[in-house]
Formats: sequence, structure tokens, C-alpha cells
Amino acid sequence: MNILVLPGDGIGPEVCNETVSTLELLAKKKGVELTFRDDHAGGAAIDHYQDPMPDSVITKAKASDAVLLGAVGGEKWDHLTGAMRPESGLLKIRKELGVFANLRPVAVSESLADASPLRPEAIAGTDMLVVRELTGGIYFGEPRGRSGEPGNEEAFSTMRYTTAEIERVARVAFTWAKRRGNRVCSVDKANVLVVSQLWRDVVNTLHKREFPEVELSHMYVDNAAMQLVVRPSQFDVILTGNLFGDILSDAAATLGGSLGLLPSASVGGPVGLFEPVHGSAPDIAGKGIANPVAMLLSAAMMMEELQHPEIAAAIRAGVDSALNQGLRTADLHREGKTTRVSTREMADAVREAALSAL
Ligand code: NAD
Repeated sequence: MNILVLPGDGIGPEVCNETVSTLELLAKKKGVELTFRDDHAGGAAIDHYQDPMPDSVITKAKASDAVLLGAVGGEKWDHLTGAMRPESGLLKIRKELGVFANLRPVAVSESLADASPLRPEAIAGTDMLVVRELTGGIYFGEPRGRSGEPGNEEAFSTMRYTTAEIERVARVAFTWAKRRGNRVCSVDKANVLVVSQLWRDVVNTLHKREFPEVELSHMYVDNAAMQLVVRPSQFDVILTGNLFGDILSDAAATLGGSLGLLPSASVGGPVGLFEPVHGSAPDIAGKGIANPVAMLLSAAMMMEELQHPEIAAAIRAGVDSALNQGLRTADLHREGKTTRVSTREMADAVREAALSAL
């Protein structure tokens, strides 16, 4: 099994290193052969190749079984524009790998309920999966442009979806719902946007044709934003487009108290991309205090996809055990209530418990 590791920038390399050594340890115990190859992405690739995602890295990614990515971006590259921005590299690899569905699970365990910005009784029972369309919509839609003189400019982007694009991501959402709570809530803005009206029609048709046994509901995105913070436990699978999914999944991410807990998987093509939801966190980079859990859980999703659910389960058990022992990195630490640990110490605790769970 060949894994391409793209640590990226900021805390990316810190959390990637811990994750790769965890995977190596668990794979060795299980007799699974994992080969890791490293390359640059984002700002690191701009420095090294003058390109945030050169074609050589894309070729390596396509020849791998999965790609593990840390995070990209940072102040150093903020002055760059267009295709030279670190984030453009991310958009490019997602597009090139054809990973059109982004899966973001958000489950708030009992031991973390008090870290949530919501009251414990409001957050209790939250266990949702946000399925976001990733390669279409307004982030890619043409035409787009900016014209005119300073002070009198005009700019526009286009939100565009085809039936095929909506169907394939909806199919992913329905399929995952069947493995979970059997409910899909499709989020759109069909009261205003024509593109959302097509979205809703296509989801309804697919539901009737292929997944009548799954419970389907629809919600406008403004209401969904509200419901996410009022009663998040009502959701099982949320299906939505690229722009709405970007915003809602970050809102959902904060429910657990830290971005540092949230994994993601981007699937749909032959090679999946597994990365934490958080960015490169330049404010804490290099301090050894980043939370490695999001990256570790992303690796668990990868091992599941690579048909090694026992390794995935061991990583999850390791994370649960570390959290239940009261260990917390700085982002989640509560003075007098939890034990503050470094990135390395947190990963060590996960590794130890994961190994004994395997
Ligand atoms: P961010 O996710 O990097 O950080 C937001 C806040 O959360 C910061 O206070 C940070 O310290 C904290 N945080 C994030 N991950 C953490 C972790 N694992 N442990 C502890 N705390 C953590 O978002 P931002 O500050 O808006 O962006 C910083 C840079 O990252 C920018 O250049 C942005 O473009 C980029 N970015 C990249 C990705 C990606 O690579 N997928 C996603 C979002 C932002």
C-alpha cells in the first residue's frame, strides 16, 4: 500500500509526523505493508517548486493508493494571487484526483461535551456526517471575472451544477446514511437560487429511484446554520454543495470545541485524499502544541477506505482512550479539569492505547 504524504505548511508537518509514525507502528503489528512517500504541497511547494501543486506531485498522487495531507497556507505566501496561492494547490489536487465528495464526521463524545461552546445538554448525542460537494459549484463555476476601474469595479462568480454532479454526490450521502442513522438532510437555497432548485429536484428523483428506504428532508441553508447551533443532534447526514458545505462544516466543526478534532475524507475518484479540516494554524506552528487528533482520525478514515477497518478502529480507540484519560492539547485544555499535553505526548498516548486495542 503506497501512501503519498503531503505535510504542507504550519502545523501540517507536526501532525503528519505523529500520524505517519502511528500508522507505521500499527501496520507493523498487523503485518500490513505501508510505504510512505513524502512531497511538498502549498507554501512548501511554492518555495521548493515555485508552484503550490506541481504536476509531478499530482502524478505521484495518482500512482498512490491514498494521499494524506496536512494543511497549507501561511502569511509568507499571502501576497500571492490566483494559481500561485497555496489554497489553489489544494483545489487542483482535489480536482485532479476527481474526489467530488468531502466527508466530515462530527461526533461529540461525552468526555468533550464540556469543551463545546454549546451547553452540554444542547450538544448531547451529536453525531453527524457532512457530505459536501467538492469539485463543482461557485468555487469552479465559469464565467467568473473582475473588470472596471478602481472605485468603479464589477466582479462575479457563477454557481453552476449539472444533474450528474448532484446525483453522484447525493449517492454518496444516501449510501453513507444507510451505514449510519438512515437519514439525509439536503441543504440548499431553493427559495432564491435556480441552481438550488435543480439540486433539490435531482436529489428528490434519485431518492425515489434508488434510496426510497432512506429518510430524506430538505432545509434552507440559513435555517441549517441556525439548527446546527440550536439542536445539532437532529442531524444524521447533511448533504450540501461546495460553498454551503464549506461554511456549514466549519460551523459544525466548532461544536466539539476545537478544529483540532475534525477529520475529513475526500472520495469519489480512484485515489482518496485524507486531511484534517483545520488549516495550517500559523499562530501555533512550531510550538509543539497542535492537536494531532484531527490528522490521526483522518488517517483512520484512510485505513477504512483501504480496507483495514481494524487499524482504523484501533486509532479511534486510541483517541478515545487518550481523551478519556483527561489528556488535552492546549486548544482543549481546561485548567484544573484536564491534563495539558504536547502534540507528541498526545500522539504517544494515542499510539499506546491503539497498539493495545489492536
Ligand atoms: P486554521 O484552521 O489554520 O486556524 C484557526 C484556529 O484554530 C487558530 O487559532 C488555530 O491555532 C486553531 N487550530 C487549528 N488547527 C488546530 C490544531 N490541530 N490544534 C490546535 N489548534 C488548532 O484557520 P486560519 O487561521 O483561518 O488559516 C490559517 C492558514 O491556513 C491560512 O493560510 C489559510 O488559508 C489556511 N487554511 C488551510 C486549510 C487547508 O489546508 N485545508 C484550511 C483552512 C485554512
